[in-house]
Amino acid sequence: MSVEYISKKRVKLHIFGIVQGVGFRPFVYQLARKYSLNGYVFNDGGGVVIEVEGEDAELSQFIHDLKLNSPSLARIDSIEQQLIDLTNDKMFSIIDSETTTLQTMVSPDISLCDECRAEMNDVNNRRYKYPFINCTNCGPRYTILNNLPYDRHNTSMRNFEMCDTCRQEYNDPMNRRYHAQPIGCYDCGPNLKIMNLMEDDVKNDKDIMKIATQYIKDGKTIAIKGLGGFHLICDATNDDALLALRLHKQRQKKPLAVMFSNIDCIKKVAKLSATEEKLIVAKERPIVVVQKNKNKYLSKLIAPDIDRVGVFLPYTPLHELLLQEFKKPLVATSANLSDEPIIRDDKELFKKLHLVVQTSLTHDREIMNACDDSVVMDVCGEPIFLRLSRGYAPKSFYLNKRSKKKILALGANQKNT
Ligand SMILES: [Zn+2]
Ligand SMILES: [Zn+2]
Repeated sequence: MSVEYISKKRVKLHIFGIVQGVGFRPFVYQLARKYSLNGYVFNDGGGVVIEVEGEDAELSQFIHDLKLNSPSLARIDSIEQQLIDLTNDKMFSIIDSETTTLQTMVSPDISLCDECRAEMNDVNNRRYKYPFINCTNCGPRYTILNNLPYDRHNTSMRNFEMCDTCRQEYNDPMNRRYHAQPIGCYDCGPNLKIMNLMEDDVKNDKDIMKIATQYIKDGKTIAIKGLGGFHLICDATNDDALLALRLHKQRQKKPLAVMFSNIDCIKKVAKLSATEEKLIVAKERPIVVVQKNKNKYLSKLIAPDIDRVGVFLPYTPLHELLLQEFKKPLVATSANLSDEPIIRDDKELFKKLHLVVQTSLTHDREIMNACDDSVVMDVCGEPIFLRLSRGYAPKSFYLNKRSKKKILALGANQKNT
């Protein structure tokens, strides 16, 4: 037996945590290639399984990097490691998911990443102004998920057949969209439309965003389909629009959240602490309750009689494109009847809220799990959650030892809060 052979090993690693739908397998693939290791990686119902073989030193480096440099959306909770027999694989590959026990963690939905934003704003990109642009670092996850493991056929993207170009990106481990389950484009992905209760619907119109914003400029409230449900949207600087919204929604004084195109716009109407600023730009994009300043730009009907206001930045490309077109802050409040979960279905929207809203900017990617906006507040430098939901839910953690006490578990009654 040669010395070289003795120094070669094969290990099986089982990774638990948030490791599906976050670009983990391409990361493993690239890492294995970097250290000239062979074997394979796949998703199973419990997380990610890697079998990898090569020289001892490279294997150690591989495992070291795996723990330290994993993708930003991943969270490794534990790794089981086992030495197994060599099989002398000639390459490293990513193989199809195995459906076994279903215990893996699901990633929350994540706001548009910088790379996708740059592509969305690039006239020469094939996804220029595409309202559903996403990649393995951003986009919908939990809200489109129907079943585990997190694969396209288990999401509401199963109805969209990928075009050749998207499929190439999806199958290329070196591409940012490798196995990005919600991948799509103008040719193959979800489509926007405007649904009207009183007028004709508007479909496949390149000016659809202009048409939608015209309703808002006219002082109307429209609904917009977000990640986890519909928002009711109106001009945050228009008293009459606010008055009508409050009257029809029978919400006299309850404060309403406002969505701004960027943090500098928020700073014009609010005093922000360092913690608040960090929370506002965080990838989870929660609503942050902040102190108003003396600026009278926003309608006084947004948060009457209190010195605070809930502010947030857009989290989907659709919201971002709407703000680009409208150019002013928008009131964005959950579309629901009092105390009911956020509405996630077109028919339900007009059935329940036809007095409040008659126009909806919607699309054909179904929302599988309703998820309201998260709401957070800075209390002495610590973020305190008033509602932990979109961007953070489903949140999971491990107890570091088995509990001997009985644990009471309660359902969220269709709210992810
Ligand atoms: Zn992205
Ligand atoms: Zn496509």
